[in-house]
Amino acid sequence: MNRKREKGSQESTSRALGQIGLLLKKAQLRDKNLGEALRVISEYLAASSSALFRLKQDDKPECSQIENIGSWPLADMNSLSLESMFIADSAWSDLKKRKIIHSHPVSKIPGHQPDFFFLPLFLDDHLSCIIISIGPERNRLTGEVREFLEGAISLFELWLSKMNLAKKFDDLINFLPYAMIGLDTHGNVTVWNSAVEQMTGCKGSRILGKGNYEYALPFYGIRRPAMCDLILHPDPRWLATYTEYRQEGDVVHSSIFTPALGGTGAFVTSITGRMRDLNGRVYGSLHMVRDVTQERQMENKLQSSESMFKAITDYAGLGIALFQKGTALYCNDQFGRLLGISGREIGLSDLVEAVDTEDRKEIQSRLESLSQGTEEGPLRLDLNLKVGNRHRNYSSYSQVLGYGGHPTICFVLDDTTEQKELAKKVRLNELKMYHEGRLTSLGIMAAGIAHELNQPINTIRVATDGFLFGRDEGWSLDVDEFYEGMEMISSQVRRISEVIRNIRNFARGDLEQEFEDVDVNRTIENVFSMIGRQFEAHGITVHKKLTNVLPSVKAHANQLEQVIMNLLVNARQALDGCNHGRKELWITTNKNTQSVYIEVIDNAIGIPDHSIDKIFDPFFTTKEVGQGTGLGLTISKSIIRELNGTIEVFNNKLGGATFLITLPTLGETK
Ligand code: ADP
Repeated sequence: MNRKREKGSQESTSRALGQIGLLLKKAQLRDKNLGEALRVISEYLAASSSALFRLKQDDKPECSQIENIGSWPLADMNSLSLESMFIADSAWSDLKKRKIIHSHPVSKIPGHQPDFFFLPLFLDDHLSCIIISIGPERNRLTGEVREFLEGAISLFELWLSKMNLAKKFDDLINFLPYAMIGLDTHGNVTVWNSAVEQMTGCKGSRILGKGNYEYALPFYGIRRPAMCDLILHPDPRWLATYTEYRQEGDVVHSSIFTPALGGTGAFVTSITGRMRDLNGRVYGSLHMVRDVTQERQMENKLQSSESMFKAITDYAGLGIALFQKGTALYCNDQFGRLLGISGREIGLSDLVEAVDTEDRKEIQSRLESLSQGTEEGPLRLDLNLKVGNRHRNYSSYSQVLGYGGHPTICFVLDDTTEQKELAKKVRLNELKMYHEGRLTSLGIMAAGIAHELNQPINTIRVATDGFLFGRDEGWSLDVDEFYEGMEMISSQVRRISEVIRNIRNFARGDLEQEFEDVDVNRTIENVFSMIGRQFEAHGITVHKKLTNVLPSVKAHANQLEQVIMNLLVNARQALDGCNHGRKELWITTNKNTQSVYIEVIDNAIGIPDHSIDKIFDPFFTTKEVGQGTGLGLTISKSIIRELNGTIEVFNNKLGGATFLITLPTLGETK
């Protein structure tokens, strides 16, 4: 009889285990069929209900830490309070020792004397869940029952660890900051993490488990295969919609524009992998998507600002480099071109070595001091470099910047070779023009010089002829008269040599000489000594109003003479050309604390409005050929500008022109 019963119960044990095994084999033991598994246990134990409780890890007392996660049937369980299920605290310590507990607690419900089984389920060596079965029918914890329950516990623990693994995977996927989509081989969505929910605004509950390209809608607005599908089922037509496609084994890197993402569309890059099981069988795909729209926009902006920067520096022809510890962090093409270096890294030493002047060492140490902070920037240096076989002039600007926490020299190089040569040519032209102007002035002076010299020569001739006439007539020589005559001759000779000295000084004109302290009044007198008598001969009344005590100016005296000569000659020519009864010329000098003023005023015809802006232009003349070159005022202006002064012209109330020269003074008076 016992044997029969034993055999019968063995059969029911294996049947029950088989049923549990079936359920677990499906590996879908979730809430919905958990009740089924609990039913199998209940049936075997002839219990009326079974429930699975999970132990929560917090500080509350143990009996209130448990929560029901599955029941069969529910009604019975609800009628019992959890506290009432435990007879003693010792039950907890037994459960923690992996012991199955069979007890008969006193029920609070009258006439209810239930039979309890507590089954501990362990996860990672910790008590994780308890299955509690309650049956009205008395049962015993025989060896066979224990065996069955231990089997059931192992299977439930297996299920638990599978659930736990799935949770860990979910946690991991949801923790990732990248949007992840997973598909099975049928195209059903298996993964839709929180990042993709955030990116698309589409909840996983709406997408998970769905096929028919449901996942594509938030990205493309239509149902179409994305790379997560294409990696499993390639279709050239859809693959062609991707850019930057690159495959490495089971992994594909690709980019695409997703028109529906974010409302206005977005540019995304993705990494997609074919997933394989332990046997290498493909079971689905994982697709990691990154919205790179902003990055691309930034990249584009950066690229365009970089190319703008490059265009500007290339257009300006500037060489720009950043040196850190002597090596170039950045160096534009022009910098290499200016140093004649291409195809290799450029160092600050390349620049120093190219210096073709004796101050190379000094330049090197100044640059070192600049980077060490002992010399304060910016450092502006004119460099003479040997580039290949040629010598080039560069102007450089260097400044130290803190870049990446290290002193970095920003070096800007500008080729000034042509500029310098041009300046030299301009200077030569200026000198040539100045010289031409002097020759013209000398030509104009020739007539005046004749006047200047004729008069004393005539006086001398009158004196000497008088004496010779007396001798021929046999007159006795009056000694007093003779000495008087000699004195007059001597004074006229002095006058002649003064004129000659002034002319010589005027003609010499060495521009390279240092400026000297010049007395403006005296300069004017010198000019009058050379051409003063011309005015008389041309019927012009000259009014000289020279302020007595005038400070000196720094100038070349003969240059200033040339300016005054130009103005006087122009005035004389203008007065010659008009039919005034009274032709007059005023020359005045004045001063204030900083300046000396020279004014040349005539009452001729003035300068017409249409030419007043042009008279200082080179070769502007209204005079006939042989009379003017159009250079006089140009040269005068350039001379005055060199003295840091100004020359202005305006038409005066007398109907003529007024030229006003302003010169900075030296401060002292003479
Ligand atoms: P040039 O005397 O050889 O013509 P300038 O440069 O000295 O050259 O003078 C340029 C022009 O300015 C003259 O041709 C003349 O038309 C005008 N100009 C200069 N000074 C006077 C003046 N005092 N009155 C009227 N016109 C003048």
